[in-house]
Amino acid sequence: MGRNSNERNVDTSRVSPVGYTYAHVKVGRARGKAHEHKCTRCGRQASQWAYQGGSEYEQQEETTRTFRGEEHVFTLRWSANVWDYEPMCVPCHRALDGDA
Ligand SMILES: [Zn+2]
Repeated sequence: MGRNSNERNVDTSRVSPVGYTYAHVKVGRARGKAHEHKCTRCGRQASQWAYQGGSEYEQQEETTRTFRGEEHVFTLRWSANVWDYEPMCVPCHRALDGDA
């Protein structure tokens, strides 16, 4: 109440930890479908909401994926705050996540 809200007017009291999947559902509910927007990097039609990193609401989870018969552990990152995402196309999202 005593704090100034930032330009995006995030109600921090409502940003509570959520699971990875539900976090993306929340983004879609708050901001619409990603493909209704343009990719913020290349301007083509976006298809996914991409977490931009560095959020104070960031959550992480270690997960294992099997790739060519070998297990790889990687860290899944997401945010509970819907404004930490930007609409992106798949190639730009992959480039952002660094697994090109
Ligand atoms: Zn793009």
